[in-house]
Amino acid sequence: MAGSQSLGPMLNMRLVRPDLVIDITGISELQAIREDRDHVRIGACVTHADIEDGRVPDVTGGALPTVAHGIAYRAVRNRGTIGGSVTHADPSADWISILCALGAEVTLQSASGARRTLAVEDYMVGALEVDLEPDELLVEIAVPRLSGNARWGYHKLCRKTGEFAHAIGAVLSDPDRGVCRIVLGATETRPIVITDAIAMLRAADDGALQLDRDALDSHASQAGMDDPIDRQIHLAALRRAVDQANRA
Ligand SMILES: Cc1cc2nc3c(=O)[nH]c(=O)nc-3n(C[C@H](O)[C@H](O)[C@H](O)COP(=O)(O)OP(=O)(O)OC[C@H]3O[C@@H](n4cnc5c(N)ncnc54)[C@H](O)[C@@H]3O)c2cc1C
Repeated sequence: MAGSQSLGPMLNMRLVRPDLVIDITGISELQAIREDRDHVRIGACVTHADIEDGRVPDVTGGALPTVAHGIAYRAVRNRGTIGGSVTHADPSADWISILCALGAEVTLQSASGARRTLAVEDYMVGALEVDLEPDELLVEIAVPRLSGNARWGYHKLCRKTGEFAHAIGAVLSDPDRGVCRIVLGATETRPIVITDAIAMLRAADDGALQLDRDALDSHASQAGMDDPIDRQIHLAALRRAVDQANRA
């Protein structure tokens, strides 16, 4: 148990019946925050509020604190952790989508001390399902440092502020690092992540990013988003994310 903001409700509804529950929030390594030249490394038990309040150095031009602020309400953010959110792997949750857009990686550590690192999009293998062995913990999330010219956008569609999303669009264009990524999140399963999106998100003569909607619609359809209305809603979220990136 980390913040228990997802496990708690599941216990309440008897959706899970563990024999033993261990609170991992007292493990100091999981609270650590480290910054190096290319990344900020966020301990799994760092809370949404820690990120919202700037206790984590923001190497993302505002993406991390902005997304943290949009998660639920303050009481949930005070307890809920970034590692718990990513491991719970709710497709509608915010961290999975923005971390995929930023190109973040998770580090997992087993009881024997062996470590492995995965891209966030590979860690989540399906709805409420991650690539985690029974003797492993998620220990840290490495978020790449964006260059000065990077532009990002994140938009979640939901009826009330702080709700889980019905659709998420996220984009990152960071030409100095050769990175261009698009994410369609809050799907029925893992997000659709386009890691080399340069052909679908081009800069026009005036510098504004432009989305190739037809190419994206076809990509989403091939990725399993069969319902055209669902695709329409996700593309609307993505268009707003691009608008946000263009305002930066
Ligand atoms: C009313 C409400 C509204 C919410 N709205 C939103 C929202 O709008 N957007 C959003 O993104 N989220 C939302 N959430 C979820 C919230 O962000 C949770 O904090 C998050 O999903 C889970 O984090 P946690 O630290 O509470 O994890 P926990 O509930 O403690 O754990 C979740 C799961 O992850 C496992 N786990 C936790 N940490 C680790 C680790 N380090 N290594 C391995 N396994 C681990 C646990 O065993 C458990 O299976 C909401 C929650 C509530 C209660």
